[in-house]
Amino acid sequence: MNKHQLPDPPERRVRIHLGIVPKHNLSRTFSQDSSPGLDRQYKINLEKEQSSKTEQNTIEVYTDGSKSKTGTGSGIVCPELNMRISYPLGKNNSVFQAECVGITTAAIAMTNRKVMNNKIIINSDSQTVLRSLASSSTTSNLIYDCHNALETLAASNDITLRWVKGHDGNPGNEAADSLARQATTLKVVGPEPIVPIPFSEYKTWLHEQTQREHSQLWANAKDCKQTKIAFPNLNQQLTNKLLRLDRSKLRKVVGIITGHSSLNRHLSIIGVTDSPLCRACMEKNETPRHVMLECTGVTEQREISLGSPATFPEVLSNLGGMLGFWNELGWLE
Ligand SMILES: [Zn+2]
Repeated sequence: MNKHQLPDPPERRVRIHLGIVPKHNLSRTFSQDSSPGLDRQYKINLEKEQSSKTEQNTIEVYTDGSKSKTGTGSGIVCPELNMRISYPLGKNNSVFQAECVGITTAAIAMTNRKVMNNKIIINSDSQTVLRSLASSSTTSNLIYDCHNALETLAASNDITLRWVKGHDGNPGNEAADSLARQATTLKVVGPEPIVPIPFSEYKTWLHEQTQREHSQLWANAKDCKQTKIAFPNLNQQLTNKLLRLDRSKLRKVVGIITGHSSLNRHLSIIGVTDSPLCRACMEKNETPRHVMLECTGVTEQREISLGSPATFPEVLSNLGGMLGFWNELGWLE
């Protein structure tokens, strides 16, 4: 795991493990030059109640991050410096990354413009990013880069990072949000990803991809006819419920779903009984579906445990009632 140590406590040389190739003992050291007593050269203000009054000669910068179906992007706005930046990140990055890159980009842009000897307030609505920067260490390269960009700017300016509530009518925050949303639609310059894709995004993508392929395989499958009546589509919630059942209940439910149970239709197929007909009504084949949905011979038991279900999936949504119904009949014992 990458671990960058932010300068806390001061005047201590801290070994920073990049962690990319730990076997080779790849590590980096940086020295903490700030005055004793200061953790970092910039301040972070996370307070919820903040004065909206800004001192004169203060440069106010607003940054924001956004994610949409088309991409991720950062927005930076600063009226005093006539600065408006829409910075696209790419499709698979996270809002956290976009928020962080917004602050980094703002700091780098101001350093490049040689902004010096100013009091600068950088406003962000991302508590997570500000808290990460306020922490004494980080495992995120992005936060580490952001910290370094802020340190460079803070060498010749008085910097405060300030939390502002997002989507709260603050004009600066609204403007940065608008630029960030615009950035999500812009084409990334150069090959993606320009910022490494976070593991959480990989996980989400992999999960969605797997679900899609699984659904397609299931929809196109020609076998498992019985099970398909019970599970016309993938149902993760029901699967989780089934997996929590004890072995004996699960055996019964699987028998009901697949039709491979001790009911007459299945027993006649495997040659154990002569007739597939239902023992209660003697009219239709004795299948789980017939007994639970149609059979006129067990109407009373069905009403008590299941009500009047219309479909197999509806019965399965009431697992307790379904097991109670079969216990009452005693046909699966
Ligand atoms: Zn029947």
